Amino acid sequence: MKALEVGELRKRYGNFEALRGVNLEIEEGEIFALLGPNGAGKTTLIRIIAEGLKYDSGEIRVFGEPLTKKTSRLIGYVPQESIAYDLLTVEENLRFYADIYDAPRDRIKELMEFFSLPRRKRAKELSGGYKHRLNLAIALLYEPKILILDEPTVGLDVPSRREVWELIEHFRSDGKTVLLATHYMEEAEALADRVAIINEGKIIALGTPAELKGLIGNESIIQVEGILKGIERLKGRFKIIDKEGRVRIHVKNAREALPTVVHALVEAGSEIKAITVEEPTLEDVFMKLTGRGLE
Ligand code: ATP
Repeated sequence: MKALEVGELRKRYGNFEALRGVNLEIEEGEIFALLGPNGAGKTTLIRIIAEGLKYDSGEIRVFGEPLTKKTSRLIGYVPQESIAYDLLTVEENLRFYADIYDAPRDRIKELMEFFSLPRRKRAKELSGGYKHRLNLAIALLYEPKILILDEPTVGLDVPSRREVWELIEHFRSDGKTVLLATHYMEEAEALADRVAIINEGKIIALGTPAELKGLIGNESIIQVEGILKGIERLKGRFKIIDKEGRVRIHVKNAREALPTVVHALVEAGSEIKAITVEEPTLEDVFMKLTGRGLE
């Protein structure tokens, strides 16, 4: 059964076309990630599905039925920004949203226990990780079958990020469906059964992480770390992801390219700390398809 189907979805803001014909099918019970850089259109797509944001053309189906107010109740949504009210306590926030969504009040206690949320604490006193739990609890108030999360771990430290991943996996192991937007390729790789890579309002590749990495073909990735200079010179010859203190260089044959790479960097005055030949990541796939990195 398809939990979500999106067909030829288009959305403009004024003259700017944010979604340029998006097609997706998400199976019931899968974790599906939308991976793309900031501005790719992820939030727009998610807000159309989860918030009823208007679109220009296309089709959206939820478990085979058109997306309407009624079918949208099958969807729980955790937006990028917290929707908890700072001055209300955890319990007051949950009560407030339970009333809005017309959700049974006995869910509140269950969710507070499940997420170990301190009921009397005000939202503003919660750490990032707990605030996120509260937002997840709000999204789960009326027991949705599909959970949609927009950049669920932005701004969280590593332990909180792992915790959110576990919660998402827990939700899925309950037979539910998850759609998440992220620009962290580790997140897509760690969690998703399938990933759609989105860029400039279009899906440019879709598949399991392994299938997507297959798109790299027989190219290798040389990663160099250190205080690096002369990267510009290499950019004319290779596809390169350039991050602070680290570059990933796509080459046809690592053994042949290595001396050229090292020579160019050292000659420009780099201090190389490590060189490794690496397996491709989803960011390398994005680089291969678009010519640039994800962040
Ligand atoms: P981010 O992770 O930064 O939110 P995104 O992939 O979710 O990125 P969107 O927020 O969907 O991207 O934005 C897609 C494009 O549409 C961007 O270029 C953005 O500037 C533009 N955009 C988004 N909302 C509006 C708006 N209300 N009015 C005009 N342009 C908008």
